[in-house]
Amino acid sequence: MSLYIQKYGGTSVGTLDRIKAVAAHIASTYRQGHRVVVVVSAMGQQTDELLEMALKLSSNPSQREVDMLLTVGERISMSLLSIALNDLNIPTVSLTGSQSGILTDNNFGNAKINRILGDRVRRGIEDNKLVIVAGFQGMSEDEKEITTLGRGGSDLTAIALTHSLKADRCQIYKDVDGVCSADPRLVPTARVIPSMSWDTLSNLTWYGSGVVHNRGVHLAKKYKIPLEIRSSFNLETHGTLIGSVKPVEKAVVHALTHRKDLAWLRLDSCDSSKIPEILSFLFTQGEHPLFIQQNSGDAGNWVELVMSQHAVIKFERYVKASHDSSSLRVLAQNLTCVTAVGDGFWQEPKVIEKALQSLGKPTVLVDCKNNVLNMFMQHGNLEEILGRLHKALIEA
Ligand code: ASP
Ligand code: MG
Repeated sequence: MSLYIQKYGGTSVGTLDRIKAVAAHIASTYRQGHRVVVVVSAMGQQTDELLEMALKLSSNPSQREVDMLLTVGERISMSLLSIALNDLNIPTVSLTGSQSGILTDNNFGNAKINRILGDRVRRGIEDNKLVIVAGFQGMSEDEKEITTLGRGGSDLTAIALTHSLKADRCQIYKDVDGVCSADPRLVPTARVIPSMSWDTLSNLTWYGSGVVHNRGVHLAKKYKIPLEIRSSFNLETHGTLIGSVKPVEKAVVHALTHRKDLAWLRLDSCDSSKIPEILSFLFTQGEHPLFIQQNSGDAGNWVELVMSQHAVIKFERYVKASHDSSSLRVLAQNLTCVTAVGDGFWQEPKVIEKALQSLGKPTVLVDCKNNVLNMFMQHGNLEEILGRLHKALIEA
């Protein structure tokens, strides 16, 4: 008897009909004799709607109250799913993050999981119940406050539970067929990739793809947890398997991703010792730079970074408050970063050449690692740019 962790995203449980369809699928897994723990997201766009309500009342709502509010979304979907399953004669127990013993730090809005007790989850499984856990939430270990794990954090809940319960499988059900070679809404020829390594998915999600929560992928990579990314709408398809893959020596581009609305910043009079502090500040904001570099020499000391434009104001405030001598300059705005994720780029630089040639647009910054090529440019027609790159690097 295997233990399956199945996670259903917001669109998968977006309506009562969807909840019924998902319940039927879960029931069939359970009736095959498997033990199942389900993790759910809030229905549809409910998290955004709740957040909008808070922002209508205050432009700067207390993060504690925002977390308290947002966790409601997952409580609604977990209990409705539980009711639907009971109606199919499946015994269930639904549990919030705190009832599941998901213990976090106290960083509201982007809390880190410290550890998972999971006693009530295990008890539910032992009692032969189907356990439903509310995703994206936990309880702070010190203050016993309700916390959230960052937007899209239900994936992280599912992956962390898989590890903690030593489950056999972690299946992430979505409204897409799997991990694609580019965003299929922008590149019609993009295809589902049947299998990829943790590293590849981790890079894709770090540089822009929202297919799975990056922190979840990072955890899966750390503990070598195999993942299935698949569709809840198209149940016959196998989706993408994330795990170890056979090494190939030839340079390869697996997939493209992108991020828009970026700003390129320079912190003058700033040395490398400040970098860790900068990174931890950004982490608490749920942000990370796509590029960071320190320079020193006759021209001065500075740190340059590229990050989300929307986070610049908070970053500016942080710089003013913490580094008196350093000052922040915006070098460029409205940048887009197009990223090719693969392997062997340094061994076979022809791939880099092909990528830059097929862009058809000047870059303002290029950052190349052996398995990631980041091309930063002024905002342009993404469908065209990605289409050309996809054709040259993946379809060819
Ligand atoms: N409902 C939360 C969000 O929209 C968590 C999730 O979807 O995983 O961010
Ligand atoms: Mg959601």
